[in-house]
Amino acid sequence: MSDALDTPLFDPLAHHLNHGQADLIARARKLGAERFAPRAALHDRDASFPTENYRDLRDAGLLAVCIPQQHGGLAADYLTYALAAAEIARSCGATALTWNMHVCSTLWTGALADDLDMDAPTRAEHERRRTLHFRRIVAEGAIYAQPFSEGNASAVGAIPFGTAAKPVDGGWLVTGRKVFASLSGHADYYGVLCTERADDEGASRRNTLYLAIPAHAEGVAVVGDWDPLGMRGTVSRTVEFSDVFVGHDAALMPRGMYFQAATRWPHMFLTLSPTYLGLAQAAYDFTVRYLRGGRRGSVVKQLAVAEMRIKLEQAKTLWFQAVSEARVDPTPEQRLRAYAAQFTTMETANDLARLAIRTCGGHSMLKSLPLERIYRDSRCGSLMAPWTAEVCLERIGHGSLYNEGETGG
Ligand SMILES: Cc1cc2nc3c(=O)[nH]c(=O)nc-3n(C[C@H](O)[C@H](O)[C@H](O)COP(=O)(O)OP(=O)(O)OC[C@H]3O[C@@H](n4cnc5c(N)ncnc54)[C@H](O)[C@@H]3O)c2cc1C
Repeated sequence: MSDALDTPLFDPLAHHLNHGQADLIARARKLGAERFAPRAALHDRDASFPTENYRDLRDAGLLAVCIPQQHGGLAADYLTYALAAAEIARSCGATALTWNMHVCSTLWTGALADDLDMDAPTRAEHERRRTLHFRRIVAEGAIYAQPFSEGNASAVGAIPFGTAAKPVDGGWLVTGRKVFASLSGHADYYGVLCTERADDEGASRRNTLYLAIPAHAEGVAVVGDWDPLGMRGTVSRTVEFSDVFVGHDAALMPRGMYFQAATRWPHMFLTLSPTYLGLAQAAYDFTVRYLRGGRRGSVVKQLAVAEMRIKLEQAKTLWFQAVSEARVDPTPEQRLRAYAAQFTTMETANDLARLAIRTCGGHSMLKSLPLERIYRDSRCGSLMAPWTAEVCLERIGHGSLYNEGETGG
């Protein structure tokens, strides 16, 4: 019997992937299967950060996966990165999820920023600043976290971020508190979303800044414990910022650009879904392997596998289409499809893990096997901001019944 990990999630030929894409995705899959899978149980048990995995990612050039070639990166596009992340998640969900936080700091400042409207001086300044940012990753192996959530409605885009960046001579003083900061205590930089405002100024989402705050800057503190249900290796503790000074070059995007990106490049928020697609595949792969080991004769089991496969195919097909459509100014249909893909992936991952346990039976959920970890990890997907399952439902419902700008009954 061939091991499911021998085959990619998406066959390159059938999905029109070129040689370079297929090669990078295969390398990510191999790294996950050979290095990350054997370490996953330990980091899950101890809720510890997979530091060795990050060394492997750095050595494989994958910390720079979306950094443009001229800056020393692998220049993977959005689709290629998403496919590679899904492959890693088959072996370790926590590594794939935290890798996403890091990679977004390069994707958003890189290819995504290239699609945004900026005047020439602003673009030149951005180019100079992102050169510093990319160099830290390529030359020094720096790791970036992405702490946005504050436990209020800011991460879903409903209100401005409470974390404030007060303009001062030469830069900003940042004060605020971020919850669920994956990579806390292990990142070199926190890519913080905050609201630029002077003491007497009101907060506006348009004034969101995306700042790289060095982890060891004065005034940065990681607080609280971390003992959650799933995704334990992400080490997503609380990070507090008290009057932390950063200079102007800390701006990962120019003023106003995060707001423009969030409005015009919505797929920037779909990048958490590859992790959960990989987990969905892992739940299915586990079931097939487990039943082939002597339990496949039962028609009941065969029907359960059929049901799982159908759900998996549905999720994968929708997800691939939505991820392929990532671009600036997508059509309303593409935007709604992205929400639908996020919702489907997050819900299907946990549904498949549930079915896998029911189908494989009691022994399958022992701690010595990965399925119960997949079950717990997959539960986290639908609560991840900004596109929680509830946010997706709300937006799909509203967007299907109202055209843009329409109000009333
Ligand atoms: C394993 C894991 C890792 C994570 N890593 C990160 C990370 O690295 N960076 C990061 O920024 N976050 C991270 N998160 C946080 C995640 O994205 C959510 O922000 C978090 O789970 C929200 O938890 P909550 O209980 O506050 O959520 P919720 O109860 O869902 O809501 C938070 C707030 O948003 C409001 N809200 C929710 N839905 C809506 C809506 N539709 N409209 C208006 N307001 C709404 C609520 O009223 C509430 O005030 C992580 C979460 C997990 C589980």
